[in-house]
This record gives sequence, structure tokens and C-alpha cells, in this order.
Amino acid sequence: MIDLRSDTVTKPGKAMRQAMEDAAVGDDVYGDDPSVNQLEQEAAALSGKEAALFLPTGTQANLVALLTHCQRGEEYIVGQKAHNYMFEAGGAAVLGSIQPQPIDAAEDGTLPLDVIASVIKPDDIHFARTRLLCIENTHNGKVLPLDYLHQAWAFTRKKKLALHVDGARIFNASVAMRVPLTTLTQYCDTLTICLSKGLGAPVGSLLCGSAEYIKQARRWRKMVGGGMRQAGILAQAALYALHHNVERLREDHDNAQWLAEQLAALGVEVVSPGAQTNMLFLRLPANEVSQLGPWMKQRGILINAGPITRLVTHLDVSREDLKRVVDLWREFKGRITTPGSGDGGAKGIYG
Ligand SMILES: *Cc1c(COP(=O)(O)O)cnc(C)c1O
Repeated sequence: MIDLRSDTVTKPGKAMRQAMEDAAVGDDVYGDDPSVNQLEQEAAALSGKEAALFLPTGTQANLVALLTHCQRGEEYIVGQKAHNYMFEAGGAAVLGSIQPQPIDAAEDGTLPLDVIASVIKPDDIHFARTRLLCIENTHNGKVLPLDYLHQAWAFTRKKKLALHVDGARIFNASVAMRVPLTTLTQYCDTLTICLSKGLGAPVGSLLCGSAEYIKQARRWRKMVGGGMRQAGILAQAALYALHHNVERLREDHDNAQWLAEQLAALGVEVVSPGAQTNMLFLRLPANEVSQLGPWMKQRGILINAGPITRLVTHLDVSREDLKRVVDLWREFKGRITTPGSGDGGAKGIYG
């Protein structure tokens, strides 16, 4: 199967599995797992923060980040379509009594600072206390401009807010910009990083921040059930990913670019401004939306088709695979008929 639904579908390869098999392990809740300790030290160094914490998922990493930043009755400002507002089952509200204040992101994925300023609550008994700004980098594949990161940092210092970056795909940003991770992370208090997307580890995320912050986060992680025992097996996969799969993300970006160009040449509407890091978005007509998914699936290609269809390139999709996708797409376009167009109104694909 050629799976373009997400970069979460990547599977650990032979070398990564070997690193897992060879992992030195201990009980990480006792602080005894040498592989987890090494991973957390390397992650701290890579992100330029004092400390890091290994967690099973990005959702839990963001939850623990929020629980550590905000107390009951406090609030975080976040994008309407941000993962840690939309796609984490309301965990911060349910488990932390933390109120989200969502706002619309701009076209480029940034949260406008003037809008943020307008939703910060004054110190008044009617209001939740605004504590934190959360931004997402990359957001829908878009790399937030460095300029903006710097401005958001200065803004949050002035407004006395903490700044958390959901950096599930922040390595895609650093690779796309050709800058070290620390160039981006100097402008945040804390960040989360997903190891199980384009980096290719089977499981795992990191939360990075000050030593004091991570000490508190470690307690929250235990409370929400994320204290793992011989987690070194997973940490070795993560270390392998950090050592071998970061620069490789550039191939995914090039592949997404190539795929966007090829599909556009077939007359597929690629949503402007085209491929961003490892993602592209297509606007498909209704008759194609209903037929594309099943038609491609029969031919070994997995796509989440919708009015806006997201395609994601990753470790387990090669340029050869994408050539096959383009060839099949051409065939699909040739066979599909638009209702009411010239052929007597016949609908659907014949064969
Ligand atoms: C995938 C993702 C997460 C975390 O997801 P998990 O599946 O829980 O690891 C968080 N934020 C963003 C932006 C993501 O894309």
C-alpha cells in the first residue's frame, strides 16, 4: 500500500528495530533507564532547553504541557484549528479545568498578535486568567516565519504570558528553513516534538523546557498515566530517528513539491500556495471526492478524500511510489465523468 493519509503511518525499518532490540533498559519511573535518559539529554541539547521529558504520544505531551503551565480556571490562547484545541478531545478542559480561548489563524498559520492582545483578559473576578499562548509549527504544513516567532516571543514577554510551541513537526520547519532547531526554539518557553510522524519512530513525543518546568511536568505525566517502565526500547527508536531521519525530511518536502506540480499538470486544483513542507491540499469536485478514495484503494493507494484532500509524503513513500500515484490519477481523471457533461449525464467510473 502507498499510504498518503498521514506521516503517522510510517513503520520502523530494520535498522531502527535492531536499535530497539539492542536497547539498554531500566525502570524509567525510577530514572533508571539509560536509553530514556540519553534521549532526554539529547533532546534538551537539540532544543536548547535545560531539560526534556519522553512521553508516549504528542497528545499526552501537549496535555502535560498545558497542565504544567496552567492551573484550574486559567486559560490558553490557541488556534481554532490547532491540534491542542481541536484534536485532543478537550483534554485540557476535561482533565485540567483549563479554558481554551481559540482564535482564527492567518493564512500563513500564524496567530495575529493584535487579535491575541484583544482576547487577553484583564485582571477581574469575572474572567479566567490568561496564562499561555500556544502556537503550532508547522501548521498544516506551513512553516511559521522566523520574524513572527521573534515577535510572538517579545509580545508574550511584555504581556507576561508563557509561550508553548506545538512542534509536532518542528523538524520539518528547521529542515525547510535550513536552520538548527535552536534558531526556532529560542523563541519559546516550552515545545513538544513528535517522533512518530515523519521521523519514523513507532511511538513517542518529547516535551522540552526549563529544568524546573520539566520536574513539574514529570509529576503530571505520572498522574495521567504516562510513566513508562522499560521505555528504553522506545527511546532507542527515537534516538535512531533523531540521528538518521531528520535531514531526510527534505526528501519528503521535495516529493510533496513534485507531486503538487504533477497533479496540477493533470488539472487537479492544488490549494494555493502549493506544497508546504510534506503536505499538499487539493480542492476536488464532489463527484471525484466520493469516488477517488475507493478507486485508489482498489489499486493500492490510501487517500483520505474530502472536499479538501490532504496528501502527506513521508519516509515510506518514494518518488517511484508517487509516479505510480500520478499515473493512476491520470487514469482516474480520464475515466471519471462530470455529471451533466457531454456524455448524456452518465455518472461514475467505468472500470
Ligand atoms: C500529530 C500531532 C500531535 C500529536 O499527536 P499524537 O497522535 O497524539 O502523537 C500534536 N500536534 C500536532 C500539530 C500534530 O500534528
